[in-house]
Amino acid sequence: MEAPKTRYMKTLNTKSIRKDFPILERKINGNPLVYFDNAATSQKPLRVIRAVSDYYLNSNANVHRGIHELSEEATKMYEEARKTVANFIGATSANELIFTKGTTDGINAVATGLTPQTSSGDGIIVTSAEHHSNFVPWQKLCELKGAELKVLATANSNTEFPLESLTSLLNEKTKIVSLSHASNVLGTIFPIMRIAQIVKEYNPEILIIVDAAQSVPHLPVNVQKLGCDFLAFSGHKMLGPMGIGALWMKKEHMEKLEPYEFGGGMISSVKAEKSTWAEGPEKFEAGTPNVAGAIGLAEAVKYLQKLGMENVQKHSQELAEITIKKLKEIPNIKLNILGSQKPEERTGLVSFTIEGAHPHDIAAVLNSKGIAVRAGQHCTMPLHDSLGISASTRVSFYIYNTEEEVDYFIESLKKGLKILV
Ligand code: PMP
Repeated sequence: MEAPKTRYMKTLNTKSIRKDFPILERKINGNPLVYFDNAATSQKPLRVIRAVSDYYLNSNANVHRGIHELSEEATKMYEEARKTVANFIGATSANELIFTKGTTDGINAVATGLTPQTSSGDGIIVTSAEHHSNFVPWQKLCELKGAELKVLATANSNTEFPLESLTSLLNEKTKIVSLSHASNVLGTIFPIMRIAQIVKEYNPEILIIVDAAQSVPHLPVNVQKLGCDFLAFSGHKMLGPMGIGALWMKKEHMEKLEPYEFGGGMISSVKAEKSTWAEGPEKFEAGTPNVAGAIGLAEAVKYLQKLGMENVQKHSQELAEITIKKLKEIPNIKLNILGSQKPEERTGLVSFTIEGAHPHDIAAVLNSKGIAVRAGQHCTMPLHDSLGISASTRVSFYIYNTEEEVDYFIESLKKGLKILV
């Protein structure tokens, strides 16, 4: 491997960061692991793993129910975690944040919760670049209520988000606009603030839902500045454990939205004739919550806050910029890089196709060199269809990745292409 070039190594101290991630010392197929599948899930630092195991070792009890010491302690830790995560995304109050299983769960919570408010003929707008998690729940809601799903074609707009097309889709029937903040395939960051402005100017009653699975882990996000109504993200893509995520919603929606799961913990009173719901986040957290997960996620947030989200964003963006540049320098291939080519409009991931080399073969060749990348449709079939491709290869970066690893990836890819193409 070539020595890393210092220009890009200044934003984050990757050498020190990597010590917090023992998994990065693993060898895969005899080679050091190069983990470039961070858009699927990130690795976890020791601090997060320890926070989860410390909870189970020392404080485990069910929350909100017991009057005993451990239960009070676990409840305090859980609610502290809520404050930390809410504060991280600029929520005005921890009461606006519910813990979920992840982004998919959060979006389903909103789609299911909005079912009683949705009528036949209502319009729901999504983009063609959505992850299935922000597509199928709305499609199901439309099927159920006879509403109309309108798909805004963003796939071919490599630079600008098609604001005019969005405006032309809005009408008096539009109820919901749900879109991702950053695409998990294109890497493109969508201008949510501007979109929210346009939509709310048209009709302040239209609800804006943001799939922030690829933004909260990678860039500074402030829900108040974005101007949306709901925002969902996953803990496991931002150094936290799997099975935990969060859904933020404006206070007014906390009151209006129907709960999506029913049972213990979410009620105010239960009578044979009728039950009523608790107020605030509890209303949406039926059953025993993932306390350890919430504590782990809060620890992950603290880790990211220490690094600074501007630095986290810059580091991965720079790696993506270098990757794009070096991919373009590979001679004699027909390369197609998906999404915006402007580094400042992208998160730290790069999806591409190379004529004659199937993405699965590329991923297999790279895997033989210890490099983990993703190949396929990345849960975005409508996007791949609209791009006229069956699959793509995606490399996605995070705080522990280095330019040296990008160089190794490029060299391994070049060798692989000699066999494949
Ligand atoms: N939306 C986007 C943009 C994503 O990248 C993902 C994960 N690939 C999801 C939603 C779903 O996240 P989860 O599987 O954690 O619910």
